[in-house]
Parts: sequence; C-alpha cells; structure tokens
Amino acid sequence: MDVAQVLHMKGGTTETSYSNNSLFQQKVISSTKPIREDAIACFYREANPRSLAIADLGCSSGPNTFSVSFDLIETVEKLCRDRNQESPEYMIFLNDLPSNDFNTIFKSFESFEQKVSKEVVGGSGPCYITGVPGSFYGRILPTKSLHFVHCSYSLHWMSQVPRGVENNKGNIYMTSKSPLNVCTAYYHQFQSDFSMFLKCRAHELVEGGRMVLTLLGRGNHDSSMNKYCHIWDIVAEALNVMVLEGIIKEDQMDSFNVPFYSPSSSELKLEVVKEGSFTINYLEEFETSWEVAYDEKRNGSKDYQLTQFMRAVVEPLLVSHFREAITDHLFWYCQQILACHMSKGNLVHLSLSISLTRTS
Ligand code: SAH
Repeated sequence: MDVAQVLHMKGGTTETSYSNNSLFQQKVISSTKPIREDAIACFYREANPRSLAIADLGCSSGPNTFSVSFDLIETVEKLCRDRNQESPEYMIFLNDLPSNDFNTIFKSFESFEQKVSKEVVGGSGPCYITGVPGSFYGRILPTKSLHFVHCSYSLHWMSQVPRGVENNKGNIYMTSKSPLNVCTAYYHQFQSDFSMFLKCRAHELVEGGRMVLTLLGRGNHDSSMNKYCHIWDIVAEALNVMVLEGIIKEDQMDSFNVPFYSPSSSELKLEVVKEGSFTINYLEEFETSWEVAYDEKRNGSKDYQLTQFMRAVVEPLLVSHFREAITDHLFWYCQQILACHMSKGNLVHLSLSISLTRTS
C-alpha cells in the first residue's frame, strides 16, 4: 500500500463526506483549545513577529480545517488589543497528503475571511493561505520558516504499514490478539516515523517556535488496545464476518493491515526526549466518548451517525484494498457491531495532547 497516494478522508461536502462527519474530531479540537492558546500566546509575547507563520498539518477538508486558524488568530488579536499593539500579518500553511480535497478548502477560504472580519473583535491583520501537499514525514516547508505548528488527529497515521506483519491473521492492526512480532514491528514503525516528524519540524521551526500535537493514544499499561474499542476493531470484526460468509476471501483479509498506531504517553515522551530538539511544556491524556459525534439535529439514529463518522475516515483506505462494491455491506455490519458496543458503553477514545518548544 502506498500510503501517501491512497490515504485521505472522504472528500467533498456530501452526506457521507469527512466534512459532514467530523464532529468528533471537532470536539477534540475544542478540548485542546486552551493548550494551543497558551502556546501561541507565550510565543507571541516573547517573539513579537510582524509576520506570524502557522502550519496545520493533516488539515483535511471541512469545518475543522479553518477552525484552528480562526482560534489562533483570535488569541493573537486579543493579545495585540491588550498590549495596544498593531496586528501581525498571518501566513497559514495548510498541509495534507496530495489526494486530500484541497479544492473544498480553497472554496471555503472566502467564508473564513468573512468570519474573521465579522467575529474577531477589533479585526485582524491580513491573512495569507497556502496549501502544502505532501507527507509530514518529510520536509514540507523551508528552513526556519514557521513559528507555530499544529497537528490534530493525524499523527496516529504512519508513513507505511510496517514490514513483517503477514502473520497478523484476523486482525488489521496491532491488537491484544496480535503476535509479538507484529506489536514490535508496529512500535518500531511508530518510533522511526515520529522521530522523522520531529526532525523535519525541528528544521522548519524557528528557535522558540511552538508545536501542539494531538493524536489517538492508549493507556501506559495497555500493552495493546484492549481497554478502548477502536474504529479498526469494529471494521475488523465486520470483515471477519464477511470472510465467514464468503463475501471476502481470507487471503484478502490477511493481507490487509492499516498504517495506524496509537502510542502511550510514555512512548510519545521517549521519542521527544531521544530526538532532542524540543522541550515538553505539557502532556495530557483525555477520554472522549464516540457519542459526541451524534448530532440530534441531523437525520439518522445514533448508531447510523457514528457509523458515518467511522466511514468518512476509513472508507478510502478500504476501497483501495477491497472492492468498492463491498463497502455498503461492510458498513451495514459495522453499524450492527457498533450498536452492540454502544450498549456496553465502551465506545471511548483516549487522546494525547503534547505542547512542545523548539530549543535553541
Ligand atoms: N486535522 C483534521 C483532520 C484529521 S483527519 C481534524 O482534526 O479534523 C487526518 C488527516 O491527516 C487526513 O486528512 C490525512 O490525509 C492526514 N494525514 C495522514 N498522514 C499524513 C501525512 N503523512 N502527511 C500529511 N497528512 C497526513
């Protein structure tokens, strides 16, 4: 699987798009707002740049894409008012993999500008937006060109499926039922990817620049993934049923593994310390129920809407491996399985959020 080519959230603005099914991720972004506010305010107070360069990595497309930029601008503008200081100009770099729906982002730029001019008290400095297609596991911006990096719910995607996981039968990522060699291969892939991510950002950020990262995680004593039910657990359960029914061939299921890893906070910390370019200001774990993805104003039952939330994230990857024709069937099974987990109350995700400063 060439991850950089096939991975993307479901584009467009239809009923099943990521844009219409990213309420869960929006809630996570809201929960971490105080961490971002603190980081950008500390940076701005110390450095006071005339042009503030911000990057949102793995920005996807939809309402979440500009919401982070809006909040950051609002925080900086409030600081400027309090200090009786002129607004800076903003350069915002929106990055994602090349198959992301950048067109939808660009089309909504005008309404973002209108929102900023209407809702940011006292107005704001000019804002310039650039789309940056490419993998954040490589260099994407010039040396020392950034002051602030944000990345939410993207870093649990790895650059590739680890090698040597062919014996992960019946599973599609690292679970409590996976053989030891599979768990080791997944951990090593995470270590190499995350340290590469830190190295690249260390080049791109100025000294004193800040970075706030939020990703799916697992508990420190949870050696695999058995406490929290995961999207991929539900997909795997549904695929296994379809193998038993003869709709999917067993070897097709066995050769499917996803480039996904949710580290524990100690694993995350260890890589930051080993890489050495950043100091950790803050690291927190928090739980979010899947049920926040349910919007009672929309059509559809809770289990239907939560299935749509899963589908917008995982469908493009599944279509690249299995036939498109199986997906409606597959998500029908997913919905039944999800309803069963929901009744047991274990649909909760653990997230990690880390705030870092580029050291000199
Ligand atoms: N930040 C948004 C989107 C999260 S979805 C939000 O919180 O709603 C995760 C996004 O990360 C997807 O759009 C996916 O394409 C992107 N992504 C995954 N791996 C990436 C990589 N290596 N480089 C850039 N973007 C990546």
